[in-house]
Amino acid sequence: MAYFAGNSLGLMPRTVRAMLEVELNSWQEHAVEGHFRGLNPWMHYHHFCTDALARITGALKEEVVCTNSLTTNLHLMMVSFFRPKDQRNIILMEAGAFPSDQYAVETQLRFHGLDPAQSLVELKPKGEGRTITNGQIRDAIQQYGHRIALILLPGVQYQTGQVFDMAEITRWGHDVGATVGFDLAHAVGNINLQLHDWGPDFAVWCSYKYLNSGPGGPGGLFVHQRHAQNPELPRFAGWWGHDEASRFEMEPGFRPMKGAAGWQLSNAPVLGMAAHRASLDIFDRAGTAHLQERAHALSGYLRHRLEDIQNRRGAHAIELITPSEPGSYGCQQSFSVGQRGEDLLQYLHQNGALLDFRRPDILRMAPVPLYNQPEEIDLCCDLIDHWLGQNAGR
Ligand SMILES: *Cc1c(COP(=O)(O)O)cnc(C)c1O
Repeated sequence: MAYFAGNSLGLMPRTVRAMLEVELNSWQEHAVEGHFRGLNPWMHYHHFCTDALARITGALKEEVVCTNSLTTNLHLMMVSFFRPKDQRNIILMEAGAFPSDQYAVETQLRFHGLDPAQSLVELKPKGEGRTITNGQIRDAIQQYGHRIALILLPGVQYQTGQVFDMAEITRWGHDVGATVGFDLAHAVGNINLQLHDWGPDFAVWCSYKYLNSGPGGPGGLFVHQRHAQNPELPRFAGWWGHDEASRFEMEPGFRPMKGAAGWQLSNAPVLGMAAHRASLDIFDRAGTAHLQERAHALSGYLRHRLEDIQNRRGAHAIELITPSEPGSYGCQQSFSVGQRGEDLLQYLHQNGALLDFRRPDILRMAPVPLYNQPEEIDLCCDLIDHWLGQNAGR
């Protein structure tokens, strides 16, 4: 099966089993003492992910931590970085955001006594378009200006595969005095990230998509260095965010770890993190530059094949949803064949290619550099082309 759903759940690295085995053995052998003994003392387990995550996100080590889950982290980040005050109470995001993000934003607004109808601005594509442009985002930021408290956008939009210009958005947002955060669920392990230099206030992600950590794998968060030691920042805290040196003195009085680590809540879910580490090791061995190069080659090739199909069959037969400009897409291409998307999905599945489908009509296909091959793209695109030929004039 040609697997093109790595944007939803990455394939299992072969090394995961052995990685888990180490921790299972440690548990069996050392029980509670495994926190301090064995190959990877659990006490420090989240540290084992930090270096690789910093490389993958283009961040300083103190700016990232593997912890919690994406939606939990989004709430924690909004507690700290969505601080509405008087007229400055708007959250700016894209229309059709991932439901969990919509729910998080909506309930955060209500938590502050704000009405989403007044304080939530959702950017919609213009006219017939399926995507918003960076220019539209810039205009909205200028339009709402000092009324914006937080700009929350994805690095890569999950439905359309569109990559947003995070450096520019951060600059525009900071120019009007807003905080800026990114949801990197579909960006991390997919596109080149330079979070430290781009300078957003925070970012959150999950690790089971392009980072292949397995179902429900642990999330991660980024807090920019400029906030590393700001005692004024309110936050919801837990013991794992407390200063490591005195964590086990079990004293009252929360003193946060410096940087992102200070937003941890609970002790690390070691088994999930062990699987995560296995895949992070693979990213390290492959090297970010090499993976990016291969990702560009694969996604460029897929784009070329889809455009070729569209040129021959017509835009009425297949609509390419993902923008085509260089830099505006990562691994994923989204397209529509109209009402019969689910039929095509099934046809592809029966003939050896697994994609996914988002109602009402979006097919998503994501060749990833770690395990997809150009031959698989050919197989799938030949099938799409053949199916369109058989189903002409829908
Ligand atoms: C996958 C995804 C999530 C999932 O959230 P969890 O808390 O990991 O369940 C949230 N937001 C976006 C944009 C996603 O793509």
